[in-house]
Amino acid sequence: MLTSLVELAELLALRTGPQRALGLLGLFPASALEAMRRRRFRRTLRVAAERSGFYREEFRRRGIDVRRIDHPSQLGDFFTTGDDLRSYGPDAFLVARADTAFETTGTTSPLPKRVFFSRREIADMGRLSAIWLHLLGLRPNDRVVSAFDCSFWVSPYVLRSGLDLLGCFHVEAGKIDAAEFYDRAKPYRPAALFGEPSWVVRLSEIARDRGAWPLKFLLAGGENISEAARRAVEDAWGAPLYLNYGQTESFGALGAECRLKNGYHRNDLYFFFEVPFPDADGYGEVVYTTLSSRAMPLIRYRSSDRTRLVDSACECGVSMGRLAKILGRSDEMVVCGMGNVGPWVFDELLRGVTGISGDWQVAIGHSGHRDAVVLHVEMEKSSGRDAAEAQILANLRGRFSDFWRNLEMRLFDFRVVAHPEGTLRGHNRKLRRVVDERPFTNHPQVVNL
Ligand SMILES: [Zn+2]
Repeated sequence: MLTSLVELAELLALRTGPQRALGLLGLFPASALEAMRRRRFRRTLRVAAERSGFYREEFRRRGIDVRRIDHPSQLGDFFTTGDDLRSYGPDAFLVARADTAFETTGTTSPLPKRVFFSRREIADMGRLSAIWLHLLGLRPNDRVVSAFDCSFWVSPYVLRSGLDLLGCFHVEAGKIDAAEFYDRAKPYRPAALFGEPSWVVRLSEIARDRGAWPLKFLLAGGENISEAARRAVEDAWGAPLYLNYGQTESFGALGAECRLKNGYHRNDLYFFFEVPFPDADGYGEVVYTTLSSRAMPLIRYRSSDRTRLVDSACECGVSMGRLAKILGRSDEMVVCGMGNVGPWVFDELLRGVTGISGDWQVAIGHSGHRDAVVLHVEMEKSSGRDAAEAQILANLRGRFSDFWRNLEMRLFDFRVVAHPEGTLRGHNRKLRRVVDERPFTNHPQVVNL
């Protein structure tokens, strides 16, 4: 009874104006929200077990009776992975008609993950986006320009679903060269700008040289950013840079920073978050279950992102708990200015290059505030390095047009370093191929393989 009252209140809150919605949502006691989450979880589980071929078969094979499950942890070692999405395909997960799809690339293969959504759930998510943008200071008479990549990517759609409700004047630039964006966006005098962090860093270099215009904020999503790079962006514009945290699998809406920028407030209305295997400090891989997906629900989806749940109150006054800043990935994929890169990308770059032998390793670091991708290769003769780098760059241009475009837009630096044969591995039995060396937080990076 209490949970249905809360659901009704939530429904009303999300259909009222953003300011009133925040007030109403803040009135929910934590216990009522938890009860509502569990109720939605049970419903998601039941629908998935009935209508999704993948979940029906997995639950049957594991002897799981979903009527007895009340909390995700009771599913034991059952999880859904990105590899499941790739190998079974979206149709195996569908429980109802879908209206659109988005894609994301992964760690192990060039095959993208495809995730389907319905217009209705996108509209639901849009209401929350609108509330959040209002919280950050955006108002209907503000103008915004976005530079999110529109190619198969969810973020422009997420933003649009929020802005449509908020009623802002909105121009979609797409992910174009930052200098061109500067010239073409400036005449609109936008109060807010949206883009990927590495792109925002590049735009801010241009703004520092050529002059900034007054902004309420910048909002970046799709990658992590170091605090030093964030400060450089904020100094260039004299405005805050907020981060959104999402994955395509979650319609990009897992959490977002408030004005205090101290972790991402979780979208607890639409997701059930867990960190099932925390270390002593509570950090571990985030796993989430979708609670509002009407087309393609995901149960205990492994995000591969490492962070912890923060349930202490935030001084901003928003009652929803937080995810601490993402520490890194639990797999070998790195999201950086080059794009989403895993070992297979560099295998492809090195394929057919002469003079390369034995091991290779990639280090993702910083060059100033820009990401730097340094490809360490073993070579028979180090004198062949220049020729090898030229071949690798030609492969980058010919085989990965997106990554090449990002290099041309100066979103990352790329370098090849030659080493004598047999030296990269050292005493390690297994060589980690892609290493993210960028410092995102003060917490030490711990990598579970
Ligand atoms: Zn807060």
